[in-house]
Amino acid sequence: MHHSFHPPQRTLMGPGPSDVPPRVLAALAQPTIGHLDPCFIELMDAIKKQLQYVFQTDNPLTLPISAPGSAGMEACFVNLVSPGDTVIVCQNGVFGGRMKENVERCGATAVMVEDAWGKPVDVDKVAAAFSAHPQASLLAFVHAETSTGARSDAAALCALARENRALSIVDSVTGLAGIPVAVDAWGADAVYSGTQKCLSCVPGISPVTFSPRAVERILSRSHKVQSWFLDMQLVMAYWDGDSKRAYHHTAPVNAMYALHESLLMVEEEGLAAGHARHRRNHEALVAGLGAIGLEMAVAPEHRLPQLNAVCIPEGVDDASVRSTLLAEFDLEIGAGLGALAGKTWRIGLMGHSSRPRNVFTCLSALESILS
Ligand code: PLP
Repeated sequence: MHHSFHPPQRTLMGPGPSDVPPRVLAALAQPTIGHLDPCFIELMDAIKKQLQYVFQTDNPLTLPISAPGSAGMEACFVNLVSPGDTVIVCQNGVFGGRMKENVERCGATAVMVEDAWGKPVDVDKVAAAFSAHPQASLLAFVHAETSTGARSDAAALCALARENRALSIVDSVTGLAGIPVAVDAWGADAVYSGTQKCLSCVPGISPVTFSPRAVERILSRSHKVQSWFLDMQLVMAYWDGDSKRAYHHTAPVNAMYALHESLLMVEEEGLAAGHARHRRNHEALVAGLGAIGLEMAVAPEHRLPQLNAVCIPEGVDDASVRSTLLAEFDLEIGAGLGALAGKTWRIGLMGHSSRPRNVFTCLSALESILS
């Protein structure tokens, strides 16, 4: 006989998921209704408006993909890349590498612009890549690199794409609601995010937005999108149908209640106030880490307030510190990834996790383990 599953009560200060507020969990536990129920359609319309607010966009094609951030990434690539295209892909951490995979699986060529892990994307190198490859039809980059904690200049990169008559794909899985994501002001063409980071919702949904230029490219494709599930022309008929909605897939109805509630919390606080809170708690954490002798891995001007990469001091065992934090303090922080594995910890202050209580819990727990 199996038993019900009762997860431990953790404090989530890793690279995501972040702490989910009780009112979001309560929203999730409401009765399930049909995915074509008129009440659910009303909720879909509300969520679309809420997402337009967090993305700071008027793009009509703005919706939550019913799958995690990786599906949002894939939705952008499979719809905007056709076989034979040339795509400039920036890599300064793990997720740029996944973008390359996506481009190649679409039958296109990825021209890589590489920067060191922990550094932002170098805009001048991207300009040089456009000069060397004037046929490039897309630029793809990660706004907030979760693997390193570095922020890139999305406004400058999207402007560069426009100057070169290319579309832009922006990964802001970790950026959205933690730092400004100004889709229309940037002139970004496709931006995807995730619900489990600064939105502090349950994992498994990926908000995306496509500009009118991106929609034009989708509608003028001569090759069918290789993924049936992520083909936006089909998804649009469900999420974007004005009067009638055609069944495409069964939406994760309860997860959408949770998303609506978490977006409501963002609205209630106000985007700018939320960004300021992320910054304040980040500054408190950095000051406290400094006081216990820990150094940050990213230069101050490029740091993400919601993802703090900390250098692991010489002689300290990475895994044993993290497992002690989990076992004795119920506190999760993240390991370094890829080139930074064993060299950094990643301390997340995302969404509801970005609270003074969490900052102090983490600092005192780390201090007690390291002293
Ligand atoms: N892109 C970035 C920058 C991420 O941090 C993540 C997840 O951590 C993803 C994409 C993939 O999202 P998911 O794990 O929800 O599929």
